[in-house]
Amino acid sequence: MTTKATASNEPVGRLLGWLGFRQTRGDGPDAGHAPPGSDGLRNLAREARYELAASITSFLVDNDLDVSPANLLLAHSAFSGRNPRLARQIIAQAQRPEGISQKWLSDLDEQDSNQPDRVELDRLMTRLETNIEAFQANTKEARTATTDYGTELEQHVDDLEQLQKTGRIVSSLADLAKVMLERTRKAEDDMRKSEDEAKALRRSLDRAKRDAELDYLTGLPNRRAFEALLDRHYKEARAAVEPLSVAFCDIDEFKKINDLHGHEAGDRVIKAIADTLARISNDHCHVARHGGEEFVMLFRGLTPTQAAEKLDDAREALADRRLINRKTDEPFGQITFSGGVADVFGYGDTRAALKAADEALYRAKDDGRNCIRIADPA
Ligand code: GH3
Ligand code: MG
Ligand code: MG
Repeated sequence: MTTKATASNEPVGRLLGWLGFRQTRGDGPDAGHAPPGSDGLRNLAREARYELAASITSFLVDNDLDVSPANLLLAHSAFSGRNPRLARQIIAQAQRPEGISQKWLSDLDEQDSNQPDRVELDRLMTRLETNIEAFQANTKEARTATTDYGTELEQHVDDLEQLQKTGRIVSSLADLAKVMLERTRKAEDDMRKSEDEAKALRRSLDRAKRDAELDYLTGLPNRRAFEALLDRHYKEARAAVEPLSVAFCDIDEFKKINDLHGHEAGDRVIKAIADTLARISNDHCHVARHGGEEFVMLFRGLTPTQAAEKLDDAREALADRRLINRKTDEPFGQITFSGGVADVFGYGDTRAALKAADEALYRAKDDGRNCIRIADPA
């Protein structure tokens, strides 16, 4: 599905190539169907994948959208049929005079409460990354070869020019060599541009990857990044026989802050608490925004009791502060959070340990809030 007329399929084809979709039939993305044969089923599946990738890339290229994780994910869920509502919204917007812009799509992404399925996206990103690297290596190699060839050619042109006086044949050879030299230099220049483009693409991919792991409001890692961190620390701590604890924190009575001061002020409170928690983080203690006004932490090398002590210090420091709404100068009053801590190795896996920490957090809420509770594996 494309949303606008395509002026040229060249960028789409290039992007598809980078994504690893080589065209095995016809010349362009719209070429005819593969002939039926013993590989018929595999061809059909490949074709379906190809069509999906073509729709996604046309959508991004035709509407001049960033090749970012969020856009790839939205386009994938719309065009794969996973999210028909989103597909309808895209079609409706494409028919409006303003068309589809990056801002419209980003707003839509924010409104979309569906938890993104990142596995497919990760696969695409890795593929994009590998192909850019291969492309960069190839162009560099080709350019070096062209430069060497150009240098040799230049020498021949010089030699031939010295000999021009000896006759017409040599003179026309010299002209031919000059044309070849010009073309070689042009090819070299084109390749340099391609290399620069690949470098720019690489940079924007790196930026997109960083953005995909960061929470935009607090600057903390997001839940997805935290899960990766926890997996890594889990393996390392298990091998080193070190303790590992996890914690969940949730701001107390946060709805009231939103109701009394507005959502924007609520956002600033979330940021202030993120900063408080970030202060205790280091190589062995990581804090991330789990979503909403909830944070998740890991404490490498700390038992649950030690982790709870550390978290309790942060809780106390926050409870002693009096935050002020700097837009209105009104005090927010006392702001507190509750926390639940669990021993990762006391449970079957990291998921079960996180669940236990969440349950301990709810015990802290039941016990009156503004306190930390430790999960008991027994
Ligand atoms: P409790 O002590 O039981 O946690 O009470 P609570 O009011 O904090 O209850 P709950 O955790 O259920 O409510 C969280 C509220 O946080 C609901 C939602 O409107 C608000 N919220 C979630 N995400 C954001 C956000 O990004 N910004 C703002 N300002 N509010 C948010
Ligand atoms: Mg909550
Ligand atoms: Mg809360």
